[in-house]
Amino acid sequence: MANGTAPARVFQCPNCKEYINTHMTECRFCHAPVNAQAALAAAAQLDKANDVAENGTTRSQGVRNMVIGGLWCVGGILVTAITYGAASSGSGGGSYVIAWGAIVFGAIQFFKGVFQFIAG
Ligand SMILES: [Zn+2]
Repeated sequence: MANGTAPARVFQCPNCKEYINTHMTECRFCHAPVNAQAALAAAAQLDKANDVAENGTTRSQGVRNMVIGGLWCVGGILVTAITYGAASSGSGGGSYVIAWGAIVFGAIQFFKGVFQFIAG
C-alpha cells in the first residue's frame, strides 16, 4: 500500500467524530493522534456507507432528473412553438436557438434520469 502517494481520504475522528483526512498525524479538532492504518480502515468504511446511501437515492435522483429534464424539454418545445412564427419571419432567432438548447439539455437529463431509475 503506497500511503505516501495515496490521495487524502476523509474519515471520522474516532475520538471527536469530526471529519478529518487520512494525511493528518493528529486530529485538527481534538488533537488525538491519528493511526494511519485505522484512519484508512475508517475511510474505507465511510466510503462503503456513502455507496449504500447513494444507491438508495439513485432512483429518486432518476425521477428528479426525469422531471427536470422533462420540464426543460417541454419548456423548450413550448418556447420553440411560441417563437416559431417570430423566428421564421426573421426576428427571434436567438430564443429559437436557446429553446433548442433547452430541448437537447432536457432530453439528456431526462434519459440520464431514466437510466438512473432503471439502474437503481
Ligand atoms: Zn478528533
